[in-house]
Amino acid sequence: MNAVSAKSPFHNIDYVFLDRDGVINQKPPEGEYISCWDRFHFLPLAEAAIAGLNRSGRRIIVVTNQRGVALGLYSEAGVQSVHIAMRHHLAAHGARIDAVYYCPHDKNQCDCRKPGTAMFEQAFHDFPGASAANSVMIGDSLSDIEAARRLHMPSIFIEGDPEKQKPGAEKAALLADATASSLAEAVRRYLI
Ligand SMILES: [Mg+2]
Ligand SMILES: [Zn+2]
Repeated sequence: MNAVSAKSPFHNIDYVFLDRDGVINQKPPEGEYISCWDRFHFLPLAEAAIAGLNRSGRRIIVVTNQRGVALGLYSEAGVQSVHIAMRHHLAAHGARIDAVYYCPHDKNQCDCRKPGTAMFEQAFHDFPGASAANSVMIGDSLSDIEAARRLHMPSIFIEGDPEKQKPGAEKAALLADATASSLAEAVRRYLI
């Protein structure tokens, strides 16, 4: 039996948009960035959650703000090499991410940095079957949830570790369609 009822905002989801830091991997301390693969640590059961989504037939699309590029802390090539290693690690766990979009810009410079929606719009272009109506955004920042709201896309807020929660977490929890403590819990409760 499927626990997700037809009235759920999650009953018709074919595309799962994931934030990266704080959803797939441990969020670095505020003001620090994942500058290289050595700093990338998967959150518990993240690989299994993504593999479960794959088996359920969903496409997985990562949308991540990487302002550290604009700050000169690492290069775009560095971001891309982290994503290659991430996908390689996931493949070894039977999990697949279908596409990764990142914003390398600083605040207020572009349309792609979340809560801007340009990364999502690019994904809708690249995956013509995807739309706000058959997608969900899962993120741990207010900007993730605000981007989803602008698109009228359902969203799930990952509350994560209360000690590491950013300002705006309470608002994000209110704006999101649901909350969960982790990607694994979100997938189990709402998507599979
Ligand atoms: Mg995040
Ligand atoms: Zn951008």
